[in-house]
Amino acid sequence: MIHVDRPITKAPPDWLTVAKEEQALVETAYAEYQKAVKGKGKNRPEFVYEFKAYGHVLLRDALNSVYGFKCAYCESYFGATQPVAVEHYRPKGAFVEGKVKVKPGYFWLASAWENLLPSCTDCNSPRRQEMVAGKKVVRGKGNFFPIVPGSRRARRPGQEKNEQPLLLHPEVDQPDQHLEFITDHDRVGLVRPALVNGSESARGAASVDVYALDRPQLIQARSEHAKRLISHIRNTRLTHELHQSKPGDASARQAYEDNWNDLHALYLSPANPYFAMARHIVRAKLPGIHI
Ligand SMILES: [Zn+2]
Repeated sequence: MIHVDRPITKAPPDWLTVAKEEQALVETAYAEYQKAVKGKGKNRPEFVYEFKAYGHVLLRDALNSVYGFKCAYCESYFGATQPVAVEHYRPKGAFVEGKVKVKPGYFWLASAWENLLPSCTDCNSPRRQEMVAGKKVVRGKGNFFPIVPGSRRARRPGQEKNEQPLLLHPEVDQPDQHLEFITDHDRVGLVRPALVNGSESARGAASVDVYALDRPQLIQARSEHAKRLISHIRNTRLTHELHQSKPGDASARQAYEDNWNDLHALYLSPANPYFAMARHIVRAKLPGIHI
């Protein structure tokens, strides 16, 4: 995950109009629902609303334009194989508290620009994944939205401003302060919570867990990408040494410049998949390079 800037000025005005209209209708519908179920206790029906604004084509296009068809959580490029899944950072319909699904969710944020993120299917949808030691567990965000233990969960519009989420948001947080990538050759591609003041980041740990950033196929994709990058770093270093030993040799200079330019174009642009990991590896293996 990398930090991304997506101010509301990038929202398509026509979509914002649709989103605001829906938000007003949802809040009215919820107020009416509350009046209707007053006093019904546990027998009350659930609040149901058919949210539509988050599926609008203008929003999908805007998210793809900012994120370049990359998942906001795992940085995989999904554009070649699947349409964008528009993900609610704070789940709209329900949230999981302990092992219980609580309804309604953050219904008032169902069409809020800052709550809508582009995601791949595996980060977004809970499904059984084969994790370490062949154990299958259900992973993927779904309705999970853990908060700092003992803190207060937002249940009404506006309360989310004081909420303390455990999950990282790519536009609000600096993910590289909470997540780090292992650079050892045998374990390259693995991600773990970074150390914050000497202890493991709880937000990094929760994000790895809920977004399933350690699922085997994702680790494999990152590992292959990392190994290509490390090979490229090696070539860049070799051509740099050659260029320094033969400063007047135009072909040695060209080889070094080509390698350096490719390194940037293929790995060190935020548009590249797994940019957070690539940046981590380059900082470790080419110290002194500012990225
Ligand atoms: Zn993903």
